Amino acid sequence: MTAPADHPTAPSTAAAPAHADSPAASDTGHSAPAPHARLAGQVALVTGGAQGIGLGVAERLARDGAHIALHVRKEDDRSAQARRTIEAHGVRCQVFAGDLSDVNRMRAVVAEAQAAFGRLDVLVNNAGLELRADFLDTTEEDYDTVLDVNLKGAFFTAQAFARALRDAGRPGRIIHMSSVHEDLPFPHFTSYCASKGGLRMMMRNMAIELAPLGITVNNVAPGAIRTPINDDLLKQPDKLAALKAQIPLGRMGEPRDVAGAVAFLASPDAAYITGATLVVDGGLLWNYAEQ
Ligand code: NAD
Repeated sequence: MTAPADHPTAPSTAAAPAHADSPAASDTGHSAPAPHARLAGQVALVTGGAQGIGLGVAERLARDGAHIALHVRKEDDRSAQARRTIEAHGVRCQVFAGDLSDVNRMRAVVAEAQAAFGRLDVLVNNAGLELRADFLDTTEEDYDTVLDVNLKGAFFTAQAFARALRDAGRPGRIIHMSSVHEDLPFPHFTSYCASKGGLRMMMRNMAIELAPLGITVNNVAPGAIRTPINDDLLKQPDKLAALKAQIPLGRMGEPRDVAGAVAFLASPDAAYITGATLVVDGGLLWNYAEQ
């Protein structure tokens, strides 16, 4: 069953989340998001949501009214804290653990999230990692570690999500966390660039194949964002200063900068956008000065 082709992301008429009356909101002491919040009642599955950009995105979507299915690598104090942070926005949040490179587990995560909330509307394929290695020294294990998470994991999580929407006859949004390195070379990180370049072409193909289902597919491509993935860099003032000198806006990005772009792509304002990459980099990617 497909959504009407001329209303690819029309507001859903499906019932409210199965547990919309759960005590989560009242427990927090915060009031629920306004009913007119732009994602009110929707459910967003965010991968790698315990920290960094993923947590920033989950919080922002929660602020816009979405209930959050928070995927994490493993349940621990940090994921419990992330859940409390999200619930403080007055929405439901449930944690689902799994290694992104385990395709069967990620299929189960999608199914469990759908069962828990009664619906799914948005997938943010955020989880990812990078490994530094010269091309000549990169091992098969390094390559598999990066590609299995950043590309294979994103591919099959998106496939499971899209199948779930197709079977439910619902429209939706898929947003992949790519990188400026879907275009820009990053010497010594060739496996990472291969994964993000792959994500770019995967997104473009998916956008065409899933359009008849009313599912839009886009990438957000961050530049240099202040998160744990950049811990080493953040401890090296010289390298940090050199990086900032490459960024026309003169600062690293924050998770909230990226989250705003994701929230836009998830919103009704982006209903006609599919197959696009939204770059969030302070001007880094196309910074070029001559003379
Ligand atoms: P981060 O290291 O803080 O977060 C990455 C998240 O991915 C973590 O929550 C981690 O648990 C999860 N993850 C990694 N491997 C996993 C696995 N095997 N199974 C399940 N989860 C796994 O980094 P971040 O900066 O928040 O990165 C988020 C995304 O943004 C990544 O895809 C990254 O490539 C992308 N990105 C980040 C930057 C940046 O400068 N921070 C720039 C461009 C793109």
